[in-house]
Amino acid sequence: MHYHQYFPVDVVNGPGTRCTLFVSGCEHQCRGCYNQSTWRLDSGHPFDQAMSDRIIQDLNDTRIRRRGLSLSGGDPLHPANVGAVLALVRRVRRETQGKDIWLWTGYERESLSEAQLAVIDYVDVLVDGPFIEAQKDMTLQWRGSRNQRIHALTL
Ligand code: SF4
Repeated sequence: MHYHQYFPVDVVNGPGTRCTLFVSGCEHQCRGCYNQSTWRLDSGHPFDQAMSDRIIQDLNDTRIRRRGLSLSGGDPLHPANVGAVLALVRRVRRETQGKDIWLWTGYERESLSEAQLAVIDYVDVLVDGPFIEAQKDMTLQWRGSRNQRIHALTL
């Protein structure tokens, strides 16, 4: 997997102060996508062990307390990304305490494969669905168009 950007301290993508990872690779090609540079799977930087370690370290940092991890993109549930994302969310559960995981995907929850659902098992809040320009609504929190849904899976 590749990633585009990592924000170790982020107050925009989800509630509270968070770590946010924007992964590379998205096949939805939504018209009006604000993040087209993330579409290619090989764009950005390789997501390696050092990057995974850094996220865990940041989540456990007691100087700036993070509420959790946000996974966006690109699409963290792109079939080519699910293996690495699953390994990461497993680490978060195993190596941090009380951190929530939010995940944004262009897929709809009902259409997720078994491999994608295995990731969702570790996710607290899922924001799903493609961005539909005709349903764009700037007043929405944490999503760009009205068709997108926020599923509070564990909270
Ligand atoms: S799912 Fe998100 S990143 Fe992918 S094309 Fe749609 S708006 Fe862009």
